[in-house]
Amino acid sequence: MNRKLLLIILDGVPWRNFRRLFGNLEGWVDSGEARVWKLRSVLPSISASCYASIHTGVTPQEHGCTGNGNVFRLDHKDIFSQVREAGGVTGAVTHSFWSQFFNRHPFDYVRDVEYDESDSATINHGRFHSMTGYGKANQMTPSDVDLFATLTNLCLRFGLDYGILHTCTLDSMGHRFYHDCEEMDHACFVIDEMLAPFIPRWRQLGYEVIVTADHGQDERGHHGGRSALQQETALYYFGDAEGPDAETVIDQLQLAPTILTRMGAPVAETMKARPFLR
Ligand SMILES: [Zn+2]
Repeated sequence: MNRKLLLIILDGVPWRNFRRLFGNLEGWVDSGEARVWKLRSVLPSISASCYASIHTGVTPQEHGCTGNGNVFRLDHKDIFSQVREAGGVTGAVTHSFWSQFFNRHPFDYVRDVEYDESDSATINHGRFHSMTGYGKANQMTPSDVDLFATLTNLCLRFGLDYGILHTCTLDSMGHRFYHDCEEMDHACFVIDEMLAPFIPRWRQLGYEVIVTADHGQDERGHHGGRSALQQETALYYFGDAEGPDAETVIDQLQLAPTILTRMGAPVAETMKARPFLR
């Protein structure tokens, strides 16, 4: 492996909320530690379909996940499988869909809530949560600081080359309260402050870091379809690579080949999009 990288997915954050409310991330853009671009999600702009496209680099029309009710073990090669092929160690602190897509389905709560499998062809170290019982009145999400700490714990204990973290807190808040309200201002403010101390720590451990979302959300907290608010989010990059012009809109399908190229792992033949970092 040439480099180590952490991918942080904050579920359901539209472009305007990243740029308006994440003062630490934006401060690092101003100081030159980070770069930011607009990123457009695939269609449908629904969580499971986007997770599958982020990691396989192919459209929902090709991988076949049509939404959150259609989750299965995907056939396509993905970031985990390619990092493993190059001899890297992988970890995931995410919703259980990621384990189902890339390791095994169905999700067995006891077997799969936490595993360390050094011989795995995909995920070596997994820590998952299912959000079972999720609804407007009860979000069923862990505290984000616990998730950030768990990823850091895996990096230190197991020497991850690639780690992914995913949290649904803001998506759930958006479905409940929508986006132009005091509750969402505060939720974005809190997660930005919780995340911030971990970024320099991960950088000191030698990781490049990407922070983005799977999709946006519109004025009524909706996503799944086609509109700027539903599809467009931000991508923040901490690392040494050269990127495109500031006005460039990154296609979500570019994430997988970009990450693999950065790390020095083989890009799967199914990943046709062009890497945006070099
Ligand atoms: Zn989502």
